[in-house]
Amino acid sequence: MSSNILNKAIRIATVATVFGLVALPAIAAAPMAGTAAPGYYRFMLGNFEVTALSDGTMDLPVEQLLQEPAGKTIAALDKAFLKTPLQISDNAYLINTGKRLVLVDVGAGDLFGPTLGKLMGNLKASGYKPEQVDDIFLTHMHPDHVGGLSANRVIQFPNAIVHAEQHEAAYWLSQKNLDSAPDASKGFFQGAMASVNPYVQAGKFSPFDGSVELVPGVRSYPSFGHTIGHTSYMIESAGKKLLLMGDLIHVPAVQLDHPNVTIAFDTDPAEAAASRIKVFNQAARERTFVAGAHLPFPGIGHLRATGKTYQWVPADFTRMRAGQPKPH
Ligand SMILES: [Zn+2]
Repeated sequence: MSSNILNKAIRIATVATVFGLVALPAIAAAPMAGTAAPGYYRFMLGNFEVTALSDGTMDLPVEQLLQEPAGKTIAALDKAFLKTPLQISDNAYLINTGKRLVLVDVGAGDLFGPTLGKLMGNLKASGYKPEQVDDIFLTHMHPDHVGGLSANRVIQFPNAIVHAEQHEAAYWLSQKNLDSAPDASKGFFQGAMASVNPYVQAGKFSPFDGSVELVPGVRSYPSFGHTIGHTSYMIESAGKKLLLMGDLIHVPAVQLDHPNVTIAFDTDPAEAAASRIKVFNQAARERTFVAGAHLPFPGIGHLRATGKTYQWVPADFTRMRAGQPKPH
């Protein structure tokens, strides 16, 4: 561009700007949307397509729930620029192996208030339909992980078989355990029963025991303690691994520096802490991708071990590459 034309362009731009400022009324800002955007995040793990699905967030008074002095929790949160009640993510993971569509946990459905229960909308926004899901694997049967299975006792994934560790199932689906539970805990049993029993009654519930390959590329990984049969899942394709570790951690701002700190929801706190440390050490040593149900969405990354503490290294955003399978 010659300098003449350039000068002319600048003059026109300047005049237009001045004209705009003088002659046009102030332009109103667009109204804020005021709603959350769809919450899903997709990436390839070997030949598998993984979609992290947000079920929403919940506000938790973690200074009361974590088993350590409230002052220490509040100081640790402050160091991470956070405060209590802490907004905690609730994540689930959809894996398309190419042969089967697998969902690990299903969010809270309507068991936990209006800030959760977003999984179904996000599943659809991500390009899938609930009737396409072949298998659902539960990390455990707390309401924020099973509530989305059924709505008013109606199955929400009509073609899926639901799987959970057998001791987990026996514990939460037992009428005897519900009857003898303290009043404050009865809701946990009732939530599990209302969510899972419609599948049991339809012959669509299949418990498993210990560490087994459940479908090709998906293996159960016992990590008991948070609940009696709490189970992680190792997803593996073409040499790439992702460990979906459920509720092994709730509050990274506290529990990465203090992995022995447990939470009030843990059935067996000592076992829960031991499972956390064992799995974290292995994942750090083997540099395995991990994902946590309550890590900030999408909750995928790596753990780095430094002495007896850990650091969370969230996965960078990556795009789907050309030639990779597309969602249907
Ligand atoms: Zn949970």
